[in-house]
Amino acid sequence: MTRTVYVNGDYVPEDQARVSVFDRGFLMADGVYEVVSVLGGRLIDFDGHMVRLKRSLSELAIANPLSDEDYLAAHRELVAQNGIGDGLVYLQVTRGNPGDRDFAYPPVETQPTVVMFTQSKPGLADAPAARTGWKVVSVDDLRWGRRDIKTVQLLYPSMAKMEAKARGADDAWMVEEGRVTEGTSNNAYIVKDGTIITRELSNDILHGITRAAVLRFAREAQMQVEERAFTIAEAQEADEAFVTSASAFVMPVVEIDGAPIGGGKVGSVATRLREIYLEESLKSAV
Ligand code: PMP
Repeated sequence: MTRTVYVNGDYVPEDQARVSVFDRGFLMADGVYEVVSVLGGRLIDFDGHMVRLKRSLSELAIANPLSDEDYLAAHRELVAQNGIGDGLVYLQVTRGNPGDRDFAYPPVETQPTVVMFTQSKPGLADAPAARTGWKVVSVDDLRWGRRDIKTVQLLYPSMAKMEAKARGADDAWMVEEGRVTEGTSNNAYIVKDGTIITRELSNDILHGITRAAVLRFAREAQMQVEERAFTIAEAQEADEAFVTSASAFVMPVVEIDGAPIGGGKVGSVATRLREIYLEESLKSAV
């Protein structure tokens, strides 16, 4: 089946979708994105992703071209047209096509480009890796200083992912001034003596929608949460480690730079948080 994608209001077969070579997303990574997971045909944490999308756009002074209702309708239409049970919807909004290349932002009337597509991932919530856990390696965080904006400039995280693979790991944790910022596409946590520790929100990390939900559920379940940065050495001494993202949900981490965490076994806090997150977020899925 040919995938149907969304481009500026049209639903078209993927091989007929077109974006200009002058699009600033293509030339300058001048665009932002969101990834919403789909479970049982329903969208997880949709409202949270819309809030962050609007914030990212506003930080870059890109006009928001659609209403929340339009975004929701387009997500649902793509899920339906592509028969997605479990999977993802990727949404990208760029500053659009000013008709030429220039460093200065184009006039405000330049229409932003909106592209959306689905990715089918049957059994997404039942990933085998959640039972065995990920191995991560540390790398220097060489990204820019506004990681709170979800831009499409993902080359460094992509390089870090390749380095992780080359070193036999599943992902990389990025480190700045001796402290972990986050994973290549997820937020990073450790658990010590029952306390869940994750870096505080700032411009240094992406404000994960899954992070916000997981911390809320953890607090509701009377778990202790400490929002502060930690080192790789502290992580290696932790009882557990895990990451969160819209597509991995809560994913246990069992090894950091070759050192086993919690005896190299998936921990009970991560397992419980994964269960709670999936259960609770399904209740509010749209
Ligand atoms: N940090 C980074 C750098 C990411 O790319 C992502 C995933 N987009 C996350 C954290 C997790 O965010 P979310 O839970 O909203 O998917």
